[in-house]
Amino acid sequence: MNANPKEEITVCPKCKGLKHLLVVKADLFGDPTEFYEPCTCLINEKYTQKLGLKIYNQKNLKNSKLLDKLQANIFVHGPEEKFLPHLKYVLLRQSLEFSFSVMDDSRYLRIYLGDDPELKDISSWQKSFLVLFLGHVGYKNKALPGMICELLNVRLLSAKTTWIHYPERFWGKGCIEFSDELQEILTNHFITIDMCSASKKSTSQEQLERTDCNDQLLSSFNKPNGKNP
Ligand SMILES: [Zn+2]
Repeated sequence: MNANPKEEITVCPKCKGLKHLLVVKADLFGDPTEFYEPCTCLINEKYTQKLGLKIYNQKNLKNSKLLDKLQANIFVHGPEEKFLPHLKYVLLRQSLEFSFSVMDDSRYLRIYLGDDPELKDISSWQKSFLVLFLGHVGYKNKALPGMICELLNVRLLSAKTTWIHYPERFWGKGCIEFSDELQEILTNHFITIDMCSASKKSTSQEQLERTDCNDQLLSSFNKPNGKNP
């Protein structure tokens, strides 16, 4: 008898833990033959491993407008919790052989600067489909915008698809990831998908105004006043 009743619950009732189901199907000659097919629990397990728990545990959508964007470069602007269920929807509809990589700019920066032990394995983020999460770097780094441009240019040249996610906050001059060159790449090669909620758009506008204010403040501080030490 099992000492831990919780363990019994985790055994799949369909296959009783065998992970495969015996099915009878017609073979090539039309004769009924027994086959073993993977149980849904095994398929779920494989997709969980492939997508990672963060994506796999997102809520299930009934449909996603992003499904037909699998071959397109897109720039999704909006809350991560709004984008991730769409990403789950799209990835679940690809075969287990579909090769993709998920990366955030903070990790990419560490790789780029050589601070990541997995630096040598750059192949994982050079897959034909990359989801790049921006907005994870918490400090200004001069290399960041150029490094993102370089990655995107390399991927564009080799016709690899990239999905970029940027959180629901102001995007433009003043953002640590932003540069005119990056914006040019986005304008010319990416479809922008706005997932910002209407109420938060005013916040972005406020933030934009605040950034402008800060710029003005900064420029007034930087004005030569003859009192430089
Ligand atoms: Zn099962």
